Amino acid sequence: MDHPNAPVYDYVIVGAGTAGCVLAARLSEDPDVTVCLIEAGPTDDTDNIRIPAAGGKLCRTRYDWDYDSHDEPNLGGRRLYLPRGRVLGGTSAMNGMVHIRGNPVDFDEWRQPGWTYETMLPYFLRSEDNERGASRHHGVGGPLPVAEGRSRNPMAAAFVRAALAAGHPANDDFNGPRQDGFGQYQVNQRDGRRCSAAAAYLHPVADRPNLRVWTHLQAHRILVEGGTARGVRCQRLDEIVDVRARREVILSAGAYNSPQLLMLSGIGPADQLTALGIPVVADLPEVGRNLQDHPSTYLVFTHDEPVSLLSAGEERHVRQFESDGSGPLSSNVPEAGGFVRTRDGLPAPDVQFHVLPVMFVDCALGVPTEHGISFGPCVLRPASRGDVTLASDDPTAKPRIRHRYYADPADLETMVAGVRIALDIARQAPLAPYTRRAWAHPASGDDADLRAFVRAHTQSIFHPAGTCAIGAVVDPRLRVHGVAGLRVVDASVMPLVPRGNTNAPTVAVAERAADLIRDRVPVPEPAVAAGVG
Ligand SMILES: Cc1cc2nc3c(=O)[nH]c(=O)nc-3n(C[C@H](O)[C@H](O)[C@H](O)COP(=O)(O)OP(=O)(O)OC[C@H]3O[C@@H](n4cnc5c(N)ncnc54)[C@H](O)[C@@H]3O)c2cc1C
Repeated sequence: MDHPNAPVYDYVIVGAGTAGCVLAARLSEDPDVTVCLIEAGPTDDTDNIRIPAAGGKLCRTRYDWDYDSHDEPNLGGRRLYLPRGRVLGGTSAMNGMVHIRGNPVDFDEWRQPGWTYETMLPYFLRSEDNERGASRHHGVGGPLPVAEGRSRNPMAAAFVRAALAAGHPANDDFNGPRQDGFGQYQVNQRDGRRCSAAAAYLHPVADRPNLRVWTHLQAHRILVEGGTARGVRCQRLDEIVDVRARREVILSAGAYNSPQLLMLSGIGPADQLTALGIPVVADLPEVGRNLQDHPSTYLVFTHDEPVSLLSAGEERHVRQFESDGSGPLSSNVPEAGGFVRTRDGLPAPDVQFHVLPVMFVDCALGVPTEHGISFGPCVLRPASRGDVTLASDDPTAKPRIRHRYYADPADLETMVAGVRIALDIARQAPLAPYTRRAWAHPASGDDADLRAFVRAHTQSIFHPAGTCAIGAVVDPRLRVHGVAGLRVVDASVMPLVPRGNTNAPTVAVAERAADLIRDRVPVPEPAVAAGVG
């Protein structure tokens, strides 16, 4: 070791995002173990995190890894902006706060021992503090608040009424017995303020003497000695810092950065690592592969009703938010939506809708110029697969991200079917005041025009998963194949992206991981690789 006096902890967790905050809080419950949580970004003490509707202001700032996909061959070569939180709380500090577990069949479809919905449900319940109270489907008293949205934008309500007018069922609980239907989303907020994983899990326990939270510390690679992970090499400004692990190193750096860190450490496809001059520690060809996301396409309409988030920053709204945590500034933006099956014979919905009371353009980078509304489908169970690879052996370089949306033409057809449903909803009377001018809209309802619209307007909905999948890269206890003392715990371990927003499932994965690490659950059977698409 270059740094014999490096600090030593029992567990070293890389990444204080959704999963890392859950793990740090749970593992440090035991006063006899020491935990170090390493975060590349700063602390989360900015109003743009606290104020829900201000989350978009974090894009392309120091709180964002600011990634882009590489040229997307099926989107006319466009590169899509892929924000990722680089701050305490990680991506939960900049996300849309929609609380969705996914469909119960999602976890069963992983076909990994110990990861069925039945085994996951107690972790969803344990994490949750749902203001609707305890029930078979909901928990109370957990760290993560699940609340009704307080903004109640009239356009979100009109969208739901329009969906019902178009013949879709109502659903007032997407985490209840049925996922299908339309309604308002529940959100991760407390008193109308964003409650990231850091606010929910980390800050309440930050004064534990056995927990060290280290910001502005970027991990460069895992230190593997004799086949065992012994620590992490990091950088803080111009200083190299080694942090040693007595028991385990746990990667919770997210679906883009966890595979990147494995590969920088020599754990990945041997041919690619060798080509970059990185010594191979474990030849794991599946690291970085199996990348999935939910592509989404929005119709955008503009109008003259002064109800959109364009005016959210007005003084009266600031006063309202500061007095009781309500009003437009409390909007999580995707306030309502729904789940639909575009064809018969599916085990669960294949399309999800979000409605945003604002012009939503260019993956959140576009600046709204008029009052508007945006709504549209995302493809929930894509067949297309992308990958994350290293662009260089420089740990500060961005990874190369290729999503390859619509590589499988079935995904394009699902999206086209979803856009047809969106057009039908747009024609319904409750939306009439808000759909006066089409701003982003297909030229016609013909298949060719719909496909062209989809290719030109598809954005990411920012749900990457699958790049360190259980079975292919880690075992069902989330231990990396071929390296002792090393786990991955974040959205990257999901073999298939769940049907819904990915924060709540990531929380539940981390809750279960904490029990696996603490040996509180039985050893599952060996992995079944068939669950990996
Ligand atoms: C704009 C946006 C809106 C979204 N909306 C929703 C929503 O409404 N509902 C929902 O459920 N999901 C939503 N998501 C997705 C959801 O937030 C993510 O799926 C979830 O946060 C992923 O958690 P994670 O732990 O896997 O990764 P992250 O939360 O991204 O955590 C990774 C952490 O690791 C840190 N890190 C990475 N590399 C290093 C390194 N080398 N050294 C040190 N630290 C490092 C990062 O800075 C980060 O803090 C949204 C995402 C975005 C971007």
